[in-house]
Amino acid sequence: MRALLCLILLTSAAQAAPRSAQVRVYSLYKLKAVDIEPESQYSQAAGARLAGKASVAVHGPLASFRSKTRTLAQKKISASGGIWLSGPGLPRRLYRGELSFSAKNGRLVVINEAPLEEYIASVVSGEVSDLSDPEAYKAQAVAARTYTLKHVTNHSGEGYSLCDSTHCQLYTGSASVRAKARAAAEATSGQILTYEGAPAETYYHAICGGKTADMSSVWPFESKPYLVSVKDGPASRPYCSIAPGFLWKTKIYFTGLTRLARQAGWIVGDENATGLRITAWDTSGRAQTLEIRTQRRGVSVSATDFYHGIGRRAGWRAVRSSWFSVQQGKDYVFLDGRGSGHGVGMCQWGAEGMGRKGFTYREILKHYYPGTEITND
Ligand SMILES: [Zn+2]
Ligand SMILES: [Zn+2]
Repeated sequence: MRALLCLILLTSAAQAAPRSAQVRVYSLYKLKAVDIEPESQYSQAAGARLAGKASVAVHGPLASFRSKTRTLAQKKISASGGIWLSGPGLPRRLYRGELSFSAKNGRLVVINEAPLEEYIASVVSGEVSDLSDPEAYKAQAVAARTYTLKHVTNHSGEGYSLCDSTHCQLYTGSASVRAKARAAAEATSGQILTYEGAPAETYYHAICGGKTADMSSVWPFESKPYLVSVKDGPASRPYCSIAPGFLWKTKIYFTGLTRLARQAGWIVGDENATGLRITAWDTSGRAQTLEIRTQRRGVSVSATDFYHGIGRRAGWRAVRSSWFSVQQGKDYVFLDGRGSGHGVGMCQWGAEGMGRKGFTYREILKHYYPGTEITND
């Protein structure tokens, strides 16, 4: 009987879309302890009303709670109703919904079960903080909600659904939520993007540069019928041309290129980069394959690897996309580029441009993810 009941519960849970997001917070920090404070008079912690400051710390295999009046060590300490978290070297953040604190391998694991739309509003706030059009915010909310649903098992082996870093989606809690993002999450509440009835893979990026990229040319061996290259408005004035940084230029000295190419393992220790050129382009006009010349040979590097390799080592502002031309100087190359990001899926600044021209978020999503539908879950 118990097994049957359990099965019924599991089935109904699988059918209903999640109404909350289970996120490990401060996931990039080596956390041993946090200070906690109530947001309101309804905030609870460790089974009682949280009246003032308290703290939670690792205590062997347990999490220990300490306030002015109470000390408690348990496998799991729970809190709810709006809690401020802070601590030395930690950004101060507000989390709504449920919080749980537990110890794992000497670290404090903090998991926030946030109301889904609260989580979406926070993610959207971080993603499009420099945009202003309400329809662009709504398009981003649907894309982020769909991404959440699609990636809800990212960390299931570790005991939670999502982390709060860009590995999943950047989530910094409720204090940073902008009014526009909250309005967009509410206006599109429960809506997701589907392709042939299944949630779509809603990749997005900052600025496409005039044409989005086909997924298969950025990540070989992967393709989706709705992640194909689309023209982002008229060629003379793409929707995203309103973005600051739509066009960019970078000068890379061969000494710097040599260092980065050695670190990335593209060339070996005694080789020096003496040149860089594009050897293949994709259908959108982006570089697909590059050749780094050394004193001995030419080394072929995919443009995706080049963009990520330089970005990780020298920052993402140096080479902002794989859409550029190369001019060679005596001891440097000059990159003349457009766009920012991998170029797959929705162009966030293009969404802003479309919104300002009067397109709705439904039209924006259909433009960047052709063939998809907006579905109420
Ligand atoms: Zn993650
Ligand atoms: Zn664009």
